[in-house]
Amino acid sequence: MSDQRISDYLRTQISDLKSRGLYKSERTITSPQHAAIQVNGREVINFCANNYLGLANHPQVVAAAHEGLEKHGFGLASVRFICGTQDLHKTLEARISRFFGKEDTILYTSCFDANGGLFEPLLTEEDAILSDALNHASIIDGVRLCKAKRFRYAHNDMADLEKQLQDASGCRFRMIFTDSVFSMDGDIANLAAICELADKYDAIVGIDDCHGTGHLGDGGRGGAEVAGVLDRIDIITSTLGKTWGGGSGGFTTGRAEVIDWLRNRSRPYLFSNSVPPPLAYAALSTLDLIESGQAMRQRLQANTKRMRAGLEGAGFTIKPGPTPILPVMLGDAALASKMADRLLEHGIYVIGFSYPVVPQGQARIRLQVSAAHSDAQIEHAIASFTAVGQELGILRQ
Ligand SMILES: *Cc1c(COP(=O)(O)O)cnc(C)c1O
Repeated sequence: MSDQRISDYLRTQISDLKSRGLYKSERTITSPQHAAIQVNGREVINFCANNYLGLANHPQVVAAAHEGLEKHGFGLASVRFICGTQDLHKTLEARISRFFGKEDTILYTSCFDANGGLFEPLLTEEDAILSDALNHASIIDGVRLCKAKRFRYAHNDMADLEKQLQDASGCRFRMIFTDSVFSMDGDIANLAAICELADKYDAIVGIDDCHGTGHLGDGGRGGAEVAGVLDRIDIITSTLGKTWGGGSGGFTTGRAEVIDWLRNRSRPYLFSNSVPPPLAYAALSTLDLIESGQAMRQRLQANTKRMRAGLEGAGFTIKPGPTPILPVMLGDAALASKMADRLLEHGIYVIGFSYPVVPQGQARIRLQVSAAHSDAQIEHAIASFTAVGQELGILRQ
């Protein structure tokens, strides 16, 4: 390569990131994903995976992946509409539809793709998308690819949403789209109020339920089940990469015509490979576990309650919310990363989050509780947080 300028340019950019404490280095895990994992040759307890029910390496799911590999092969080397649709994909789509009580489902290889391929086929410049200010990057990117008019409402602010619905009243279709669970704060969108506004202003409601599917609600149907509005949500996107086994895959579920149109027009579906058979097969097994998983969900709730009470009792400030995401608020970015480092020495694996992932001055450690954590692991985490909190002088008196 003769032109060195781009390398020189990127080297400067990277050292700038490093000097601002924003460079992301990856810790290497040498074990399967679980409540306890191997990091840097030692065992630590993991509190930062999206493995809410502990299914990422559940023996039944691993066995199903093996069986899927044997029965249906490794790869399809095709997109769905050419020769990449197996009976397996149709079965999984039908099972997902039934689970959410929707008419049809389309699989993608990730929820990033589901969101990336959702808006552009459905909406044109005649239409409006009303999007929560804190929506996930994949929603923002999907919206960018679409020509509809964009209305961004303040996070979970129903008065602002209503005002913007009024501003969008001249458009043909209005679609309100929101994260169901916001991953940094652990709060759930006010879906009941959103559905009321949608009725009043004749809007379509879509949600991304990645951080809710499988573990929230009595049946594991996510944020919309918690809010009691599952049947009023027109479109749900979600992932097979979090609670649902933690492998990969995503989907959009909703009205038959919407899904049919997406199969014909959604670019990440038309121009990208099928979900590999072992993953699709294992996803069916994971869904069996989710459908019969009331006890796991209760365990997750009990663990979350215990962890929240322990940390609040010790004097930490944790954002309120009904999910297993516990944001331990610290404010200062350097403090958050120092605290995460000190906790790792205690055998607790957590990550500090700071700007631009969260607003300036709201650095935090985001703890994610799992049903797979034992009582002893939760107690060890509370004791370690308390010790490090004392040492760093950050506990409320
Ligand atoms: C994780 C996540 C995604 C991306 O899901 P993948 O299947 O990993 O691509 C999309 N939206 C939200 C809200 C998420 O949390």
